[in-house]
Amino acid sequence: MVRKPRPATLPHASGKPLISEKAERFTESVIRDMTRQAHLYGAINLAQGFPDFPAPAEIKRAAQEAIAADVNQYAITWGAKSLRHAIAAKMKKWQGLEIDPEAEITVCCGSTEAMIASLLAITNAGDEIVVFEPFYENYGPDAILSGARPRFVTLHPPADPAEEWRFDERELRAAFGPRTKAIILNTPNNPTGKVFTRAELEFIRELCVEFGALAITDEIYEHILYDGARHLSMATLHGMRERTITINGMSKTYSVTGWRVGWAVATPVLTNAIRKVHDFLTVGAPAPLQEAGATALSLPDSYYEGLATAYRARRDRLLPALRQAGFKTFVPRGAYYIMTDIGGFDFPDDVSFAQHLVKDIGVAAVPGSSFYSRPELGARQARFAFCKTDATLDEAARRLRQVKKA
Ligand code: GLN
Repeated sequence: MVRKPRPATLPHASGKPLISEKAERFTESVIRDMTRQAHLYGAINLAQGFPDFPAPAEIKRAAQEAIAADVNQYAITWGAKSLRHAIAAKMKKWQGLEIDPEAEITVCCGSTEAMIASLLAITNAGDEIVVFEPFYENYGPDAILSGARPRFVTLHPPADPAEEWRFDERELRAAFGPRTKAIILNTPNNPTGKVFTRAELEFIRELCVEFGALAITDEIYEHILYDGARHLSMATLHGMRERTITINGMSKTYSVTGWRVGWAVATPVLTNAIRKVHDFLTVGAPAPLQEAGATALSLPDSYYEGLATAYRARRDRLLPALRQAGFKTFVPRGAYYIMTDIGGFDFPDDVSFAQHLVKDIGVAAVPGSSFYSRPELGARQARFAFCKTDATLDEAARRLRQVKKA
């Protein structure tokens, strides 16, 4: 979470601040903190978005076989050849994009590293990065660490929760200027579940072209879609192939968030810079798990259909449970989170509400304010992840019925 600058609290003996100004400007992740609190209080974790069900057997087997075959040393720093070629083949098949696996792909330690490596590779001090809010928590600190100034643009919640979250075109245009280096776009979106439409992406495309800005797109939920929503990659839009850094990873599509295998795809010039940053940040992602990644990305189409169908059933299990418990729910079209309005409960803010849930009710959720630069925008919201088994979701539903309404 981003916070206001404040003087360093622990001066060094020499009188110099012990902690960097950058590190002082954000807190630890609230999402990850809620996981620790879930452990502490024995609560069901609907806070951090990771599945509590097994990963596909063939992927696990591929990882085991890679270790048995002694794929235990560093992979090529920018990614195992087999995985880079599988990424290029999959992007060709699903997006129709021609990607050179030798020059345009950098495999990183999760899409988290792909995002920060990309930002570090392209930003100079004072550059501005446009970020929609609510945003996935990491983007704020990522911008600060790379020396950029985030410019936040609000995604407004719909009055009717069955409708879409939307940005105001004038507000988005006003956030672009001569210092705009890039816009970060996450579609399907965490935490709102919004899937950006072609018209919205076209509007963003025009701004990128007009202001000479890049788009950094986090497409990690590309296969988790509902109600006929279609995922569109920004790089497929006219003139955007050269301007887009496309980020993706194994975590969500193959239910392996702990493997830490993600990637950034961009033109050779951008990739060259991303690869250098990545090399000195982490050297490489886990080698045997990259080999398993090549197997994962070669799964048949039926795998992705099954993934979306299963997530739809989970969404449709948790939505009515939350409504019965007194939440107003925003219906997601993609990703695996439900943003809720908690105005029906008698709590001063989202943080005290989330504390009550985790300590007294036994369910961890993420307080809405952690997705905003201005906490007041999220003070009536909480996010629930539904990447869980039916048994977990049903037990959470049972507990949530105990929350007292206003
Ligand atoms: N993307 C997941 C979430 O939003 C988890 C991310 C993480 O903790 N690295 O909950």
